[in-house]
Amino acid sequence: MLNLVLFGPPGAGKGTQSENLIKKYQLTHISTGDLFRKHLGEGTELGKLAQKYMDQGNLVPDDVVIGMVEDKIKDHLDGKGFIFDGFPRTVAQAESLDKMLSEHGLSISLMVSLEVPEDELRTRIKERAKTSGRVDDQDDDKITNRIQVYQKETTPVAAYYKDQSKFHGIHGVGTISGIFDKICSVVDTHK
Ligand code: ADP
Repeated sequence: MLNLVLFGPPGAGKGTQSENLIKKYQLTHISTGDLFRKHLGEGTELGKLAQKYMDQGNLVPDDVVIGMVEDKIKDHLDGKGFIFDGFPRTVAQAESLDKMLSEHGLSISLMVSLEVPEDELRTRIKERAKTSGRVDDQDDDKITNRIQVYQKETTPVAAYYKDQSKFHGIHGVGTISGIFDKICSVVDTHK
């Protein structure tokens, strides 16, 4: 199995590149942001719980996220692998993911980190706000909070994978296909 963590700040292009990667490597997409938005849209209890965190750009509590991911992993163990997008976002989530995978004899193959400067992230999120319908894309304060939460709580996750020699940084500015090619060459070398 190829189990890939696609990492990077809000607006780095994880969703866009995930779509391409899923097609090429036939992976199961686990995007915690998308899963929460689906729950929100369906008005489930989980959706209601997550909404107050998401709308402000804060992280949903780890136990809630981990339980949701575990269910999704269990449903797709017969596939070619997973792409984790927007997860793990804390070191506790990364540790839980390792534990969940090892229970099934699996592990993370590599992390690909999309590196994009902050001004470019802001430009992209504001552009996306015109069509995303996402509350958390709409104003500068929320975007600033998301970037700060990322720096404080999520960047330590990169060090976690660096310690395991699984971290690969990629410059995430350029054409979508140019960035995709760079990701694929890293994946093909390290899978
Ligand atoms: P972004 O485009 O900011 O990377 P996502 O679509 O991945 O955002 O997630 C949107 C929101 O959903 C986050 O700001 C957070 O509130 C919640 N969320 C998504 N994934 C996680 C996670 N792994 N841990 C905690 N909260 C999460």
